[in-house]
Amino acid sequence: MRTLLTFLATLLASTSCWPAPGKAGEGPTPAERADALRRHGLDPATPLASRVGATPASVLKMFDEAGAPAPRAHELTEAERRKLRAAFEALPPLHRRILGERLRTVSFLDGMPNTALTSAVNADEPYRLFDITIRAGILGETASEWLTWKERTCFDVGDSPLSVSVEAGGLDAVAYVLLHEATHVVDDCLRLTPEGAAERRGAGEPRPTAFTEGVWADRLTPSPPYRDPLLDRTRYRPGGRVLPIGQAEALYAALRRTPFASLYGSANCHDDLAEYVALYHLTEVLGQPYRIVLRERDRPILAYEPFKSDLVRGRAGQMKRFYEVGP
Ligand SMILES: [Zn+2]
Repeated sequence: MRTLLTFLATLLASTSCWPAPGKAGEGPTPAERADALRRHGLDPATPLASRVGATPASVLKMFDEAGAPAPRAHELTEAERRKLRAAFEALPPLHRRILGERLRTVSFLDGMPNTALTSAVNADEPYRLFDITIRAGILGETASEWLTWKERTCFDVGDSPLSVSVEAGGLDAVAYVLLHEATHVVDDCLRLTPEGAAERRGAGEPRPTAFTEGVWADRLTPSPPYRDPLLDRTRYRPGGRVLPIGQAEALYAALRRTPFASLYGSANCHDDLAEYVALYHLTEVLGQPYRIVLRERDRPILAYEPFKSDLVRGRAGQMKRFYEVGP
């Protein structure tokens, strides 16, 4: 996860690839787009599910650098291909349109250290294309199973009778993971969260966007009303760590006081958006639950459904744009 976060920070700190609507004179020209598509071998007319391919060498190299054992290519079975097709079809219309234009490959690896990686093919070019790489192990899991596993990585249970679970229905985990990763591509193209390029040039903090205004002071720091010492210490935060599960109740009480859709959404403004969009789509459009439950042995002692929180729902109006384009 840290590998992913570090990488995304790099990815998202690069140049924006698509102007916000209405900003004339910015962004790639049709010639730059045609040139990028030709040189990187992407035909936007091909179906998304047909873009399954070998993991590009540039992506595999990132795992070398992380010092992890080398992941291995995973050949999809026919059943796994069906799951991937369904995952593409379940995406919001805006995601499908932008992935159609920008996704070069989607590939699967066994033994990846993190769940998924979205990487720019041509980070320094005006018209950016992307590869998405996914850990093949999630193809056998439901969203509930994978989200529960992920939530549990935040806590040290020791000999405590407490356990945390996420009830998110029986949708395939790959549908959720693709939704989250594809939102990073949409974000990078439409700049729904602030870009980092200005920071890298020493030009100061980039301006907030409609989604981050009043919620994030900068890309990694929530605005004062949503800053919390415990939320700040989860393993998703810079310098954070795995917390004793005895602190889970207080941690979720703190999460309730924020507009973040999940604990992972409190990690940084980019994952705030990716989690918000993914969980909005899961609960409000696909009709699945998203409920965090803390139990003491079999007895639930806390349940939190972010999309029933007024603070979280207060941002839902910003989701309209994901559904306003044709497929
Ligand atoms: Zn992410």
